[in-house]
Amino acid sequence: MQLTDAAIGELQFLRKLQCLLAEGEFVATYKFALLNALADLSLEREPEADGSLHLPVSAVAEKFIEYYWPQARPYRGVDGTSYVLHQSTGRQAAIVNTILAAQAVHATLPVARAAKLRWHTLVTKVAGTIVSMPLWKLQTVGGERDEFLYREAEFADEAIRLLPGVPAAFRALYGLVLDAVRGAWLRQITTIAQNRPVLRDADLASFLFGSQRASLDGFRAVLRDHQGGRCLYCAKELRGGGCVDHFVAWSRYPVDLGHNLVLAHDACNAQKRDFLAYPPHLERWQQSHLERAGELAQRFDSLALPHDGERSRAVAWWAYEQGEAAGAHAWIDADRFVRLDGGWRDVLRGLPRVAEPPRPRY
Ligand SMILES: [Zn+2]
Repeated sequence: MQLTDAAIGELQFLRKLQCLLAEGEFVATYKFALLNALADLSLEREPEADGSLHLPVSAVAEKFIEYYWPQARPYRGVDGTSYVLHQSTGRQAAIVNTILAAQAVHATLPVARAAKLRWHTLVTKVAGTIVSMPLWKLQTVGGERDEFLYREAEFADEAIRLLPGVPAAFRALYGLVLDAVRGAWLRQITTIAQNRPVLRDADLASFLFGSQRASLDGFRAVLRDHQGGRCLYCAKELRGGGCVDHFVAWSRYPVDLGHNLVLAHDACNAQKRDFLAYPPHLERWQQSHLERAGELAQRFDSLALPHDGERSRAVAWWAYEQGEAAGAHAWIDADRFVRLDGGWRDVLRGLPRVAEPPRPRY
C-alpha cells in the first residue's frame, strides 16, 4: 500500500491527538469537551479559502453547554441514590456548577436556549472559563507546547483560528476522533475518586453521551404531520406510529437535531441501517426538511425540541462528501445500494460548495 501525502498528514494529526488525550495534564474533563467541540464545529462550519476556520469562543462554549447539560443531570448510582458525577479531581468542575445553576431555572436545554438574555449570560460565563482554563493548556504535553490546532498568538476578538488543514483533518477523521475523545472522557470519569463507588459500568456511556433513539418520541407527531403521514423514503402511507430515523445516521454524527430526523416505516428504517440514503432520498429530505426548514422549526420550537436547520444541512454536506471520497454505498430500498457519486452535490443546493482545503502540514 502506498500512502499519499494527505494520508500521512492525517496519520500525524491522529498521532498528535492521541498524545494530547493520553498525556495532556488536566484535572478536569474540559480537554475532551474542547476537542469534541473543535471536531463538531469543523463539520458544521465552512472553512476559509485557505483551509483555516475562524471560531468564536462563544461557539465553543455553546458546545460545552450541550455536552455537559445531560452529564450534569443526576446519575443513579449503584446504591440507587442520585449523584452529580464529578468532572474533575478535587472540586467539581466550574462549568458543571454553572450548568447546574442554569438547570435550576430551565427544565431543558431548548428552553434554556430560548431564554435569550439568560442564555447569552450563560454562554459568556462558560466562554470565560474556557479561555482561562483549557484553551491554552490543551496543546501542552509533558511541559512542551505544540500548537498544531490553533495558536495563542492569533487569539483576537474572543476567537481562535483553526490552522489550515485542521478542519479538513477533523472532517476526514471525525468518527475516529470522536470515539477516541469520548473513550478517554469516559475513562477519566471512571478514575475520579468521588465517582468510583457509585458507577455502574453498563450504562455510563449512554448516560454521558446519549443513546440512539433515547427520547425521540416527542418528534414523531411533528414529523408525521409535516410529512403528510408518509414515509420519507418510500413515500407510502405510514400505518401505525412509524419510526423516527436519523437521516444522517447517529453512528456518523451522534446528535439529535430536529431537521436530521425523519419518519419512516420500521422496515425502511431497518433496511437503511447506518448507510447514507441515495440522492433521490436526499432530494426528498432536502425538499421536505430544508426548503421548509422554517415551518419545521416553528413546530419544534412550540414543543421545545432541539433543532438547527443550518447545522443539519452542513452535517449532511459533510457526510455525503466523506461518503463520496470513501466510495460509500448509498441505500436505495430493501437490500439495494448504489455507489455514491458526485450527484448528491446538485441535490443539496443552496449550500455553497466547500472548496477542498489544503491538507495539514507539520
Ligand atoms: Zn417506507
